[in-house]
Amino acid sequence: MESRNPATGELVKRYDELSERELDAKLALARRAFERHRRTSFADRSKPMSRAGELLERDKRRLGALMTLEMGKTLKAAVAEAEKCAWVCRHYAEHAERYLADEVVETAARKSFVRCLPIGPVLAVMPWNFPFWQVFRFVAPGLMAGNVGLLKHASNVPQCALAIEALLREAGFDEGVFQTLLIGSGAVSGVIADPRVEAVTLTGSEGAGASVGAAAGRALKKSVLELGGSDPFIVMPSADVEKAAKTAVTARCINNGQSCIAAKRFIVHEAVYGEFEQRFVEGMRALKVGDPMADATDVGPLATPQVRDDVAAQVEASVAAGAKVLCGGARLPGPGNFYAPTALAEIPEGSPAYRDELFGPVASLFRVKGLDEAIRLANDSTFGLGSSVWTRDEAEQRRFIDELEAGQTFVNAMVASDPRLPFGGVKRSGYGRELAEVGIREFVNLKTVWVA
Ligand code: NAP
Repeated sequence: MESRNPATGELVKRYDELSERELDAKLALARRAFERHRRTSFADRSKPMSRAGELLERDKRRLGALMTLEMGKTLKAAVAEAEKCAWVCRHYAEHAERYLADEVVETAARKSFVRCLPIGPVLAVMPWNFPFWQVFRFVAPGLMAGNVGLLKHASNVPQCALAIEALLREAGFDEGVFQTLLIGSGAVSGVIADPRVEAVTLTGSEGAGASVGAAAGRALKKSVLELGGSDPFIVMPSADVEKAAKTAVTARCINNGQSCIAAKRFIVHEAVYGEFEQRFVEGMRALKVGDPMADATDVGPLATPQVRDDVAAQVEASVAAGAKVLCGGARLPGPGNFYAPTALAEIPEGSPAYRDELFGPVASLFRVKGLDEAIRLANDSTFGLGSSVWTRDEAEQRRFIDELEAGQTFVNAMVASDPRLPFGGVKRSGYGRELAEVGIREFVNLKTVWVA
């Protein structure tokens, strides 16, 4: 496993994968740790979880620099990510007990109620794009629910994976309550099948989701899948176009364009298309691409040469099919995996920029004649993760809320995750939800109790 700086291509550190014997010892430890951890009270768990939040705040610059070094997000975004992780720790430290409280139900019984009990070790297979946030949004509810965590992180962020384990130990969680497994993706189905593991959650691509979902199905274990997206960002005539265009640039280029909920398809009413396109392209051209450690940088490198090659190939194929390049459209010269912020228009149906997820700073612009066409085009995707709509017309807002096929619709705002709100998708963006009350309830035994 290699930690390689995406801004320079330099190899920073190399790790060996766990041997079979080492992996077996970690799974055994997880089981033993669970037998203790499941018996702790919410107050017992809340203390180290709050402490984890404090450590994330205290060490945010060091941890942020590690994220930037391994996957190239800007340092300011990485520091903000550590802060957001602290928020999710505080959120569940405070609310887990209420989220999982007994629910009394009146029946013919003397007493009947529903109790949420921990289920055991849960495997988390996580991506590199938000190397701390993706893990903490699983860890905070998971450990507070009384489960223990096993992390198989993406192979290019091993230092982040190990830093998270160290931080949770320092926060006061017992040995084995959270462990990082340095294993390749080939070892994942074996871990899922292992009787000591109870469930699996994956955030990643469709291919990885299908493979993990199939392994969970074979083992008859619960799974949650958070997969890709090609989120629509719809602008209607009543919108504040200036604000929409400015937000659109941020929403597309967040995390150097590598976010599942980045706005990817910009669907704009013809009455405001001209103004939107001009402002959006100006905004994309003004972004400063460069050293992710520098304060002034807006967009850093893509995480790996493969990610950049994939984006470049998707743009080339779309242009070959007839798409027009409004700005960017090419790799940037020099070392590192840099790609120019790009906007494409006149995109033919069936080309990658119409159909696929583009995991880099590349926007697809579409012009539509009205509301029905906007909804039809937005839903003409295999994905259904987020959606952002810009309109001041309440009837239009209602139509979007009811008819967009997505796990979330944000009105006059960009899509963002929030510990207080459920997060997840429909269609090929996966199933299950993270965060909020519903997120902590995904991996519990919701036990019905009847006392005659
Ligand atoms: P990825 O290649 O699918 O990798 C994600 C994780 O799955 C990594 O730990 C990877 O391990 C592992 N993996 C890959 N193939 C596997 C397989 N066949 N069996 C078991 N595990 C496997 O995704 P990525 O490139 O890191 O992340 C980008 C994707 O994640 C995008 O599609 C993005 O939209 C999606 N994403 C979704 C959300 C969401 O909340 N819905 C959030 C962030 C990202 P290795 O690194 O060892 O291959």
